[in-house]
Amino acid sequence: MPTVLARAPGRVEFIGNHTDYNGGAVLGAAIDRYVWAAAAPNPAGRWRLFSVGGAAVLELPSDPGTKYSGTDSWANYPLGVWRSLRDFSLPQPPGFDLLVDSNLPPGAGLSSSAALELAVALALVSLAGKTDLPPAQLAALGRHAENHHVGVPCGILDQGTCAFGRAGHLVHIDCRGPVFSHVPFPADAHLWIFNTREKHALIDGLYAQRHEECLAAAKTLGVARLTDLTPAQLRAGEGKLPPVLAKRARHIVEEQARVQETVTALQRRDLAVVGRLLTASHRSSQHLFENSTPALDRLVDLLEKHPAVFGARLTGGGFGGAAMALTRDRFTEADAVQIERCCAANHDRAPEMLHLQTADGATRIGLQAGGMD
Ligand code: ADP
Ligand code: MG
Repeated sequence: MPTVLARAPGRVEFIGNHTDYNGGAVLGAAIDRYVWAAAAPNPAGRWRLFSVGGAAVLELPSDPGTKYSGTDSWANYPLGVWRSLRDFSLPQPPGFDLLVDSNLPPGAGLSSSAALELAVALALVSLAGKTDLPPAQLAALGRHAENHHVGVPCGILDQGTCAFGRAGHLVHIDCRGPVFSHVPFPADAHLWIFNTREKHALIDGLYAQRHEECLAAAKTLGVARLTDLTPAQLRAGEGKLPPVLAKRARHIVEEQARVQETVTALQRRDLAVVGRLLTASHRSSQHLFENSTPALDRLVDLLEKHPAVFGARLTGGGFGGAAMALTRDRFTEADAVQIERCCAANHDRAPEMLHLQTADGATRIGLQAGGMD
């Protein structure tokens, strides 16, 4: 049996924290850490899943309402993708054996979930005979699976960056369209990730709570979306909001402004300003949106003081996960190890360190012989 192989990258949220579902803009980058999905037709019409590192092969019943929990809960992603194919009027393979492998840490805020969704979508749709799936449709399908079948009310940042990634570039998404474009990543800067290993997998409730707080603030202020307001307009109306909602709204409105300023600074190649905007974004998460953690704050404190670091911030939804640093050429592995030692001195868990390159988006990478036994 032929096996379809597809690969989708993780992503960093460069800047634009929770702006996506507020109709704003984000800058992300696809990274050179991936989820791979290999699929072969199952002639008996069975649906079988296996993830390398997982416990066992899962055999899915064809009950469309099934929802998995515990160690099997990852099955909700491929199952959600399979259902989304039907929702998008795309062909579904009647039966499949699906094998997943990855070198992307899950639950670190690097969007392994979107990478899993997009790799599986490309593999299954190819198996059903359709080999071209435009990136905008692929991103929408992955987001639909996560929103409607997994149950996380995420915006388009994760799947959009994963689908539209381009090596040497950041992906800019105006989430209102959404409209996707690219901004060159500065040739003389580097991306480092420090994963606190505090999984953010259990915080979907907090993510949804922030989403609801943003909607409630927009409603009280009489706008469809918080990003319809400029910082000056928000200051004028802020008094109508209870203090917590005023903080949430300020984070979103000022973050939206920071995304635009970051694009301008990148175009001017002014990395000192880019760095200050990144760190300001983190401080806003820490004090206004309250989606940071003490371990992330301590990492950013350390990174901010380092002379070879332009700026640092939490990346992704927050409540755990990883901090990202934009560094000069001269920031080395030895500097990263020094940061790690300082974390240990603070009694934090040693972070997982990744020096990342920007990468191309999700793609089908071919056919191979042999299925899953
Ligand atoms: P993030 O997207 O930031 O990595 P999420 O909590 O959104 O964090 O998604 C992580 C979940 O995605 C995991 O708990 C697991 O269910 C699923 N997942 C990610 N990578 C894999 C993989 N290689 N195999 C199986 N499931 C995976
Ligand atoms: Mg995710």
